[in-house]
Amino acid sequence: MPQPLTPRIRRLTAPNPGPMTHTGTQTYLLGRAGGPVAVIDPGPDDPAHVSAILEAAGEVSHILVTHGHRDHTGAVAALVRETGAPVHAFGPARAGRSDYMAALAARGDLAGGEGIDEGFAPDVVLEDGTWIEGEGWRLQALHTPGHLSNHMCFALPDEGVVFTGDTLMGWSSTLISPPDGSVGAFMTTMGRLMNRDESHYLPGHGEAVPDGQALAAQQRDHRLSREAQIRAHLAEGPHTLAQLTSAIYADIDARLHPAAARNVLAHLIDLAERGLLELPEDDLSRAAFSA
Ligand SMILES: [Zn+2]
Repeated sequence: MPQPLTPRIRRLTAPNPGPMTHTGTQTYLLGRAGGPVAVIDPGPDDPAHVSAILEAAGEVSHILVTHGHRDHTGAVAALVRETGAPVHAFGPARAGRSDYMAALAARGDLAGGEGIDEGFAPDVVLEDGTWIEGEGWRLQALHTPGHLSNHMCFALPDEGVVFTGDTLMGWSSTLISPPDGSVGAFMTTMGRLMNRDESHYLPGHGEAVPDGQALAAQQRDHRLSREAQIRAHLAEGPHTLAQLTSAIYADIDARLHPAAARNVLAHLIDLAERGLLELPEDDLSRAAFSA
């Protein structure tokens, strides 16, 4: 059953709970019940979830996708088949990648790409700042790279709401896995969200966040303190990615160690992009990094 959040917004939680998805992907329906609605993030490829969306939605006028990860895009094809609604997003999963990240990806030892939907291609390509209108609502698409280069958040200024996808979530900090994720881009995105008026964030996983700008500031500070930790370890001598990860994430669930290592690598690459360290020539998964 969809959960009403405001008179125009309902939420359906997909049945894909897990260590990276929390209680499951949050699919939002925007528009009054009984009228045509927009579906924001269809969620994973799961027939029961698609049926639940169709039953709750009635008519679907728009499909909006925050980013090209399969736990958000998997249900797109079935939903398009059933409704014919156009899919709106920034572009394919790797759209918006910086030149620096594209060059790094060419090294071939960066790995990453977890959960990417290679085949995702929207019907309507949204530019940063584009307004999208439906029956009784008007959303602004914001390009918010960091978690993924094609990530968009959707702002609903007249309700003070932002649909934040995986950029900001109430339950955990987001995964930043290079070359599709970028710490530098994430920091710019945090600054941008903090400076907007909307404060009620509806994330792609987890509960609503009532003070979104405070969360954006906290997540920016969290990344700054991770960076400080990494630099402190490197100041003591060369460390491999595995050594840095176990030193910094000593107390987390072992299932999250691979994701934690990606976040550490993302910071190392950000430091390299800023000229504060040199990336080793050897395979990054085994090489020693030094400050
Ligand atoms: Zn994601």
